[in-house]
Amino acid sequence: MSDGTTGLVFDERYLGHDTGVEATVSMRDGSFTLPPEPHPSALFITQRIKHFLDGSGLTGQMHPIPVRAATEVELAQYHTREYIAGIKTLTEGGPMHGSWGAAELDTPLSKGSFEAALYAAGGAMNAVSAVMEGTVRNAYALLRPPGHHAMKNRAMGYCIFGNAVMAAHHARKVYGLDRVLIVDWDVHHGNGTQDAFFQDPNVLFISLHQHNWYPKLSGELEQVGSGQGAGYTVNIPLPAGTGDRGYIAAFEQIVLPIGYLYQPQLVIISAGQDASWLDPLAQMLVSMDGFRQMSEMMVKFAEEVCAGRLVMLQEGGYSAPYTPYCTVAAVEPLMGADLGIIDLYAGSSELDRSQTIFTGETREALYAARRWHNGWWKI
Ligand SMILES: [Zn+2]
Repeated sequence: MSDGTTGLVFDERYLGHDTGVEATVSMRDGSFTLPPEPHPSALFITQRIKHFLDGSGLTGQMHPIPVRAATEVELAQYHTREYIAGIKTLTEGGPMHGSWGAAELDTPLSKGSFEAALYAAGGAMNAVSAVMEGTVRNAYALLRPPGHHAMKNRAMGYCIFGNAVMAAHHARKVYGLDRVLIVDWDVHHGNGTQDAFFQDPNVLFISLHQHNWYPKLSGELEQVGSGQGAGYTVNIPLPAGTGDRGYIAAFEQIVLPIGYLYQPQLVIISAGQDASWLDPLAQMLVSMDGFRQMSEMMVKFAEEVCAGRLVMLQEGGYSAPYTPYCTVAAVEPLMGADLGIIDLYAGSSELDRSQTIFTGETREALYAARRWHNGWWKI
Protein backbone atom coordinates (compact mmCIF):
# COMPACT_ATOMS: atom_id res chain seq x y z
CA MET A 1 0.00 0.00 0.00
CA SER A 2 1.12 3.50 -0.73
CA ASP A 3 1.81 5.80 2.21
CA GLY A 4 2.46 8.91 0.13
CA THR A 5 0.11 11.44 -1.35
CA THR A 6 -2.14 10.59 -4.23
CA GLY A 7 -2.75 13.24 -6.87
CA LEU A 8 -6.04 13.95 -8.60
CA VAL A 9 -6.38 15.37 -12.10
CA PHE A 10 -9.76 16.82 -13.00
CA ASP A 11 -10.89 19.99 -14.70
CA GLU A 12 -14.31 21.48 -15.46
CA ARG A 13 -13.20 21.90 -19.08
CA TYR A 14 -13.50 18.12 -19.47
CA LEU A 15 -17.25 18.57 -19.15
CA GLY A 16 -17.19 20.74 -22.26
CA HIS A 17 -16.96 17.52 -24.28
CA ASP A 18 -20.68 16.82 -24.66
CA THR A 19 -21.53 13.71 -26.63
CA GLY A 20 -25.20 14.68 -26.74
CA VAL A 21 -28.28 12.52 -26.96
CA GLU A 22 -29.80 10.00 -29.29
CA ALA A 23 -33.49 10.47 -30.00
CA THR A 24 -34.07 9.57 -33.62
CA VAL A 25 -35.10 6.11 -34.75
CA SER A 26 -34.35 5.59 -38.42
CA MET A 27 -36.62 3.42 -40.56
CA ARG A 28 -36.32 2.20 -44.12
CA ASP A 29 -38.62 5.05 -45.00
CA GLY A 30 -38.42 8.04 -42.70
CA SER A 31 -37.85 8.21 -38.97
CA PHE A 32 -39.50 9.00 -35.68
CA THR A 33 -38.32 10.39 -32.37
CA LEU A 34 -38.24 9.15 -28.80
CA PRO A 35 -37.45 10.97 -25.57
CA PRO A 36 -33.71 11.65 -25.79
CA GLU A 37 -31.30 9.08 -24.38
CA PRO A 38 -27.72 10.13 -23.50
CA HIS A 39 -24.88 8.87 -25.66
CA PRO A 40 -23.14 5.87 -23.99
CA SER A 41 -20.07 8.01 -23.24
CA ALA A 42 -22.31 10.42 -21.38
CA LEU A 43 -21.19 13.56 -19.63
CA PHE A 44 -23.13 12.73 -16.50
CA ILE A 45 -21.17 9.51 -15.88
CA THR A 46 -17.96 11.56 -15.63
CA GLN A 47 -19.78 13.98 -13.34
CA ARG A 48 -21.12 11.12 -11.23
CA ILE A 49 -17.62 9.67 -10.74
CA LYS A 50 -16.45 13.10 -9.59
CA HIS A 51 -19.41 13.45 -7.23
CA PHE A 52 -18.63 9.99 -5.87
CA LEU A 53 -14.99 10.94 -5.21
CA ASP A 54 -16.16 14.15 -3.55
CA GLY A 55 -18.97 12.64 -1.51
CA SER A 56 -16.88 9.77 -0.21
CA GLY A 57 -14.26 12.18 1.06
CA LEU A 58 -11.54 10.84 -1.24
CA THR A 59 -11.11 14.13 -3.13
CA GLY A 60 -10.32 15.89 0.12
CA GLN A 61 -7.51 13.43 0.80
CA MET A 62 -5.95 13.86 -2.64
CA HIS A 63 -3.49 16.45 -3.90
CA PRO A 64 -5.01 18.46 -6.75
CA ILE A 65 -2.78 18.42 -9.83
CA PRO A 66 -3.34 21.42 -12.11
CA VAL A 67 -4.09 20.69 -15.75
CA ARG A 68 -2.84 22.37 -18.90
CA ALA A 69 -3.41 22.10 -22.61
CA ALA A 70 -1.18 19.70 -24.50
CA THR A 71 0.82 21.59 -27.10
CA GLU A 72 0.67 20.83 -30.80
CA VAL A 73 4.32 19.76 -30.69
CA GLU A 74 3.53 17.26 -27.94
CA LEU A 75 0.45 15.88 -29.72
CA ALA A 76 2.43 15.63 -32.94
CA GLN A 77 4.68 13.03 -31.31
CA TYR A 78 1.85 10.69 -32.25
CA HIS A 79 -0.96 12.50 -34.04
CA THR A 80 -0.66 14.08 -37.47
CA ARG A 81 -0.88 17.85 -37.65
CA GLU A 82 -3.68 17.53 -40.21
CA TYR A 83 -5.73 15.51 -37.75
CA ILE A 84 -5.14 17.95 -34.87
CA ALA A 85 -6.16 20.88 -37.08
CA GLY A 86 -9.14 18.92 -38.36
CA ILE A 87 -10.56 18.35 -34.87
CA LYS A 88 -10.10 22.04 -34.10
CA THR A 89 -11.93 23.03 -37.25
CA LEU A 90 -14.78 20.57 -36.68
CA THR A 91 -15.44 21.87 -33.17
CA GLU A 92 -15.25 25.49 -34.30
CA GLY A 93 -17.78 24.84 -37.00
CA GLY A 94 -20.78 24.94 -34.70
CA PRO A 95 -23.91 22.85 -34.99
CA MET A 96 -24.49 21.27 -38.36
CA HIS A 97 -28.10 20.48 -39.16
CA GLY A 98 -28.97 20.56 -35.50
CA SER A 99 -26.26 18.22 -34.35
CA TRP A 100 -22.54 18.55 -33.87
CA GLY A 101 -20.08 17.09 -36.30
CA ALA A 102 -18.74 13.62 -35.60
CA ALA A 103 -15.02 12.98 -35.82
CA GLU A 104 -15.91 9.42 -36.63
CA LEU A 105 -19.33 7.86 -36.69
CA ASP A 106 -19.23 6.94 -32.99
CA THR A 107 -17.23 9.90 -31.66
CA PRO A 108 -19.54 12.92 -31.46
CA LEU A 109 -17.99 16.32 -30.90
CA SER A 110 -19.30 19.48 -29.28
CA LYS A 111 -18.00 23.03 -29.19
CA GLY A 112 -15.84 22.29 -26.13
CA SER A 113 -14.47 18.95 -27.34
CA PHE A 114 -11.17 20.22 -28.75
CA GLU A 115 -10.35 22.11 -25.58
CA ALA A 116 -11.39 19.16 -23.38
CA ALA A 117 -9.22 16.78 -25.42
CA LEU A 118 -6.22 19.15 -25.22
CA TYR A 119 -6.60 19.42 -21.44
CA ALA A 120 -7.15 15.67 -21.04
CA ALA A 121 -3.85 14.93 -22.79
CA GLY A 122 -2.17 17.75 -20.84
CA GLY A 123 -3.68 16.44 -17.60
CA ALA A 124 -2.25 12.99 -18.27
CA MET A 125 1.20 14.53 -18.82
CA ASN A 126 0.93 16.67 -15.69
CA ALA A 127 0.04 13.57 -13.69
CA VAL A 128 3.28 11.98 -14.92
CA SER A 129 5.22 15.13 -14.01
CA ALA A 130 3.76 15.23 -10.50
CA VAL A 131 4.70 11.58 -9.91
CA MET A 132 8.15 11.85 -11.48
CA GLU A 133 9.00 15.02 -9.54
CA GLY A 134 7.79 13.54 -6.27
CA THR A 135 5.01 16.05 -5.72
CA VAL A 136 2.78 13.00 -5.25
CA ARG A 137 3.52 9.30 -4.96
CA ASN A 138 0.89 8.25 -7.49
CA ALA A 139 -2.06 9.83 -9.29
CA TYR A 140 -5.52 9.26 -10.66
CA ALA A 141 -6.68 11.34 -13.65
CA LEU A 142 -10.43 11.56 -14.25
CA LEU A 143 -10.02 12.39 -17.94
CA ARG A 144 -12.66 13.12 -20.54
CA PRO A 145 -12.61 12.33 -23.43
CA PRO A 146 -10.83 8.98 -23.03
CA GLY A 147 -7.90 8.17 -25.30
CA HIS A 148 -6.86 4.56 -25.87
CA HIS A 149 -8.66 4.07 -29.22
CA ALA A 150 -7.43 7.34 -30.77
CA MET A 151 -5.37 6.71 -33.88
CA LYS A 152 -2.68 9.05 -35.15
CA ASN A 153 -4.92 10.45 -37.85
CA ARG A 154 -8.47 9.80 -36.67
CA ALA A 155 -10.78 9.75 -33.69
CA MET A 156 -12.19 6.39 -32.75
CA GLY A 157 -14.33 4.77 -30.09
CA TYR A 158 -15.19 8.02 -28.23
CA CYS A 159 -11.48 8.93 -28.09
CA ILE A 160 -9.84 12.01 -29.61
CA PHE A 161 -6.19 12.20 -28.48
CA GLY A 162 -4.16 9.33 -27.01
CA ASN A 163 -3.88 10.36 -23.36
CA ALA A 164 -1.87 7.29 -22.30
CA VAL A 165 0.33 7.69 -25.38
CA MET A 166 1.06 11.29 -24.44
CA ALA A 167 1.76 10.30 -20.82
CA ALA A 168 4.29 7.66 -21.91
CA HIS A 169 5.97 9.97 -24.44
CA HIS A 170 6.20 12.63 -21.74
CA ALA A 171 7.86 10.19 -19.34
CA ARG A 172 10.33 9.19 -22.05
CA LYS A 173 11.16 12.64 -23.43
CA VAL A 174 11.07 14.86 -20.35
CA TYR A 175 12.22 12.43 -17.67
CA GLY A 176 14.43 10.19 -19.81
CA LEU A 177 12.79 6.90 -18.81
CA ASP A 178 13.76 3.78 -20.77
CA ARG A 179 11.07 1.42 -19.51
CA VAL A 180 7.45 2.52 -19.18
CA LEU A 181 4.73 -0.06 -18.58
CA ILE A 182 1.17 0.62 -19.72
CA VAL A 183 -1.45 -1.81 -18.40
CA ASP A 184 -4.81 -1.35 -20.14
CA TRP A 185 -7.66 -3.09 -18.31
CA ASP A 186 -10.43 -1.30 -20.23
CA VAL A 187 -12.64 -4.05 -21.64
CA HIS A 188 -12.01 -2.87 -25.20
CA HIS A 189 -8.65 -3.23 -26.89
CA GLY A 190 -6.37 -0.19 -26.64
CA ASN A 191 -5.61 -0.20 -30.33
CA GLY A 192 -4.36 3.40 -30.40
CA THR A 193 -1.86 2.84 -27.61
CA GLN A 194 -0.75 -0.41 -29.23
CA ASP A 195 -0.28 1.35 -32.56
CA ALA A 196 1.81 4.15 -31.02
CA PHE A 197 4.37 1.82 -29.44
CA PHE A 198 4.18 -1.24 -31.67
CA GLN A 199 7.86 -0.95 -32.63
CA ASP A 200 9.08 0.53 -29.35
CA PRO A 201 10.72 -1.65 -26.65
CA ASN A 202 10.87 1.34 -24.31
CA VAL A 203 7.13 1.17 -23.72
CA LEU A 204 5.66 -2.22 -22.78
CA PHE A 205 1.94 -2.35 -23.53
CA ILE A 206 -0.17 -5.03 -21.83
CA SER A 207 -3.90 -5.13 -22.60
CA LEU A 208 -6.63 -7.29 -21.09
CA HIS A 209 -9.84 -7.13 -23.11
CA GLN A 210 -12.88 -9.00 -24.31
CA HIS A 211 -11.73 -11.13 -27.22
CA ASN A 212 -12.46 -9.76 -30.70
CA TRP A 213 -14.99 -7.24 -29.43
CA TYR A 214 -13.93 -3.69 -30.24
CA PRO A 215 -12.20 -2.95 -32.52
CA LYS A 216 -12.82 -6.07 -34.54
CA LEU A 217 -9.85 -8.50 -34.62
CA SER A 218 -7.78 -5.99 -32.65
CA GLY A 219 -5.79 -7.32 -29.69
CA GLU A 220 -5.22 -10.85 -30.90
CA LEU A 221 -2.44 -12.82 -29.19
CA GLU A 222 -0.39 -12.73 -32.36
CA GLN A 223 -0.10 -8.92 -32.26
CA VAL A 224 3.15 -8.74 -30.28
CA GLY A 225 4.91 -5.73 -31.77
CA SER A 226 7.39 -5.57 -34.60
CA GLY A 227 11.04 -4.79 -35.21
CA GLN A 228 12.76 -3.82 -31.97
CA GLY A 229 9.35 -3.74 -30.34
CA ALA A 230 8.66 -7.45 -30.91
CA GLY A 231 7.48 -8.92 -27.62
CA TYR A 232 6.71 -5.53 -26.09
CA THR A 233 3.02 -5.65 -26.98
CA VAL A 234 1.25 -8.22 -24.82
CA ASN A 235 -2.38 -8.91 -25.59
CA ILE A 236 -4.51 -11.01 -23.26
CA PRO A 237 -7.85 -11.60 -25.00
CA LEU A 238 -10.44 -13.04 -22.62
CA PRO A 239 -13.83 -14.64 -23.29
CA ALA A 240 -17.12 -12.98 -22.42
CA GLY A 241 -18.11 -13.77 -18.84
CA THR A 242 -14.55 -13.95 -17.49
CA GLY A 243 -15.38 -12.48 -14.05
CA ASP A 244 -13.20 -11.45 -11.10
CA ARG A 245 -11.36 -14.75 -10.75
CA GLY A 246 -10.28 -14.85 -14.39
CA TYR A 247 -9.05 -11.26 -14.31
CA ILE A 248 -7.13 -11.80 -11.09
CA ALA A 249 -5.61 -14.98 -12.51
CA ALA A 250 -4.54 -13.04 -15.62
CA PHE A 251 -2.73 -10.53 -13.41
CA GLU A 252 -1.13 -13.24 -11.28
CA GLN A 253 -0.11 -15.49 -14.16
CA ILE A 254 0.77 -13.03 -16.94
CA VAL A 255 0.67 -9.29 -16.19
CA LEU A 256 2.74 -9.31 -13.00
CA PRO A 257 5.34 -11.95 -14.02
CA ILE A 258 6.03 -10.04 -17.25
CA GLY A 259 6.05 -6.77 -15.32
CA TYR A 260 8.68 -8.09 -12.90
CA LEU A 261 10.85 -9.23 -15.81
CA TYR A 262 10.53 -5.80 -17.48
CA GLN A 263 11.19 -3.77 -14.30
CA PRO A 264 9.46 -0.57 -15.40
CA GLN A 265 10.45 2.82 -14.04
CA LEU A 266 6.84 4.04 -14.22
CA VAL A 267 3.46 2.28 -14.43
CA ILE A 268 0.57 3.82 -16.37
CA ILE A 269 -2.86 2.21 -16.11
CA SER A 270 -5.51 2.77 -18.77
CA ALA A 271 -8.35 2.22 -16.34
CA GLY A 272 -11.70 1.70 -18.00
CA GLN A 273 -14.26 0.17 -15.67
CA ASP A 274 -16.34 -1.20 -18.56
CA ALA A 275 -15.48 -4.82 -17.74
CA SER A 276 -18.05 -4.50 -14.94
CA TRP A 277 -20.94 -6.94 -15.01
CA LEU A 278 -23.41 -4.09 -15.41
CA ASP A 279 -21.74 -2.40 -18.38
CA PRO A 280 -23.94 -2.04 -21.48
CA LEU A 281 -21.02 -2.16 -23.94
CA ALA A 282 -19.37 -5.45 -23.01
CA GLN A 283 -20.11 -8.84 -21.46
CA MET A 284 -17.51 -9.30 -18.76
CA LEU A 285 -18.48 -9.97 -15.17
CA VAL A 286 -16.10 -7.95 -13.04
CA SER A 287 -17.34 -6.58 -9.72
CA MET A 288 -16.37 -3.54 -7.69
CA ASP A 289 -14.21 -5.81 -5.55
CA GLY A 290 -12.53 -7.22 -8.66
CA PHE A 291 -11.41 -3.72 -9.67
CA ARG A 292 -10.15 -3.11 -6.15
CA GLN A 293 -8.04 -6.27 -6.29
CA MET A 294 -6.58 -5.44 -9.71
CA SER A 295 -5.63 -2.00 -8.46
CA GLU A 296 -4.15 -3.37 -5.23
CA MET A 297 -1.96 -5.75 -7.22
CA MET A 298 -0.68 -2.96 -9.46
CA VAL A 299 -0.02 -0.60 -6.54
CA LYS A 300 1.93 -3.31 -4.71
CA PHE A 301 3.87 -4.05 -7.89
CA ALA A 302 4.74 -0.36 -8.44
CA GLU A 303 5.84 -0.04 -4.81
CA GLU A 304 8.21 -2.96 -5.29
CA VAL A 305 9.74 -2.08 -8.65
CA CYS A 306 9.54 1.70 -9.15
CA ALA A 307 9.12 3.46 -5.81
CA GLY A 308 5.34 3.45 -6.20
CA ARG A 309 5.31 5.57 -9.36
CA LEU A 310 1.89 4.84 -10.87
CA VAL A 311 -0.47 6.98 -12.93
CA MET A 312 -4.05 5.79 -13.42
CA LEU A 313 -5.91 7.31 -16.38
CA GLN A 314 -9.68 7.09 -16.83
CA GLU A 315 -10.78 5.39 -20.05
CA GLY A 316 -14.26 3.84 -20.49
CA GLY A 317 -17.06 2.77 -18.15
CA TYR A 318 -20.67 3.08 -19.30
CA SER A 319 -22.87 1.88 -16.47
CA ALA A 320 -24.13 5.07 -14.86
CA PRO A 321 -25.02 3.45 -11.54
CA TYR A 322 -22.05 1.08 -11.20
CA THR A 323 -19.02 2.70 -12.89
CA PRO A 324 -18.46 5.18 -10.03
CA TYR A 325 -18.41 2.33 -7.49
CA CYS A 326 -15.86 0.40 -9.55
CA THR A 327 -13.77 3.51 -10.15
CA VAL A 328 -13.58 4.50 -6.51
CA ALA A 329 -12.66 0.90 -5.65
CA ALA A 330 -9.76 1.23 -8.13
CA VAL A 331 -8.70 4.62 -6.73
CA GLU A 332 -8.77 3.73 -3.02
CA PRO A 333 -5.73 1.40 -3.14
CA LEU A 334 -3.64 4.26 -4.58
CA MET A 335 -3.91 5.95 -1.21
CA GLY A 336 -4.11 2.82 0.90
CA ALA A 337 -7.70 3.68 1.76
CA ASP A 338 -10.77 1.54 2.23
CA LEU A 339 -13.75 3.67 3.11
CA GLY A 340 -15.98 0.66 3.48
CA ILE A 341 -18.31 1.56 0.62
CA ILE A 342 -20.80 -1.26 0.24
CA ASP A 343 -21.27 -2.61 -3.31
CA LEU A 344 -24.48 -1.22 -4.79
CA TYR A 345 -25.58 -4.77 -5.55
CA ALA A 346 -24.34 -6.46 -2.37
CA GLY A 347 -26.22 -9.69 -1.78
CA SER A 348 -27.41 -10.03 -5.37
CA SER A 349 -27.05 -13.24 -7.31
CA GLU A 350 -25.37 -11.36 -10.18
CA LEU A 351 -22.65 -10.04 -7.90
CA ASP A 352 -22.10 -13.46 -6.41
CA ARG A 353 -21.82 -14.97 -9.88
CA SER A 354 -19.33 -12.27 -10.98
CA GLN A 355 -17.12 -13.04 -8.03
CA THR A 356 -17.19 -16.83 -8.31
CA ILE A 357 -17.47 -17.72 -12.00
CA PHE A 358 -14.43 -19.30 -13.65
CA THR A 359 -15.25 -21.21 -16.79
CA GLY A 360 -13.24 -23.72 -18.75
CA GLU A 361 -13.18 -21.23 -21.60
CA THR A 362 -11.47 -18.67 -19.36
CA ARG A 363 -9.01 -21.28 -18.16
CA GLU A 364 -8.14 -22.16 -21.76
CA ALA A 365 -7.75 -18.50 -22.78
CA LEU A 366 -5.36 -17.88 -19.89
CA TYR A 367 -3.40 -21.01 -20.70
CA ALA A 368 -3.13 -20.02 -24.37
CA ALA A 369 -2.02 -16.48 -23.52
CA ARG A 370 0.56 -17.65 -21.02
CA ARG A 371 1.98 -20.24 -23.37
CA TRP A 372 2.09 -17.77 -26.26
CA HIS A 373 3.80 -14.95 -24.37
CA ASN A 374 6.29 -17.42 -22.95
CA GLY A 375 7.89 -17.14 -26.38
CA TRP A 376 9.08 -13.67 -25.39
CA TRP A 377 8.91 -13.69 -21.60
CA LYS A 378 9.88 -16.66 -19.43
CA ILE A 379 6.79 -16.73 -17.30
ZN1 LIG B 1 -13.72 0.60 -23.23
